[in-house]
Amino acid sequence: MTPVAQPPVCPPHHWEVTSVRIEGVCHYHHRCIKCQAEKDVPLSASTASKWVSRHSKAKQ
Ligand SMILES: [Zn+2]
Repeated sequence: MTPVAQPPVCPPHHWEVTSVRIEGVCHYHHRCIKCQAEKDVPLSASTASKWVSRHSKAKQ
């Protein structure tokens, strides 16, 4: 039994994903349980243009 004292090797990261709201926009908040790396990905990233056009239309 040899104790493994090596630092975690990332990537691949081990993301723990939660949802957060930043400035009213839903994001996927990723946090690596191994190296504490963090990133936020907008939920509507792929449909951003669609949302914006709908939103601005509704506002007027
Ligand atoms: Zn990591």
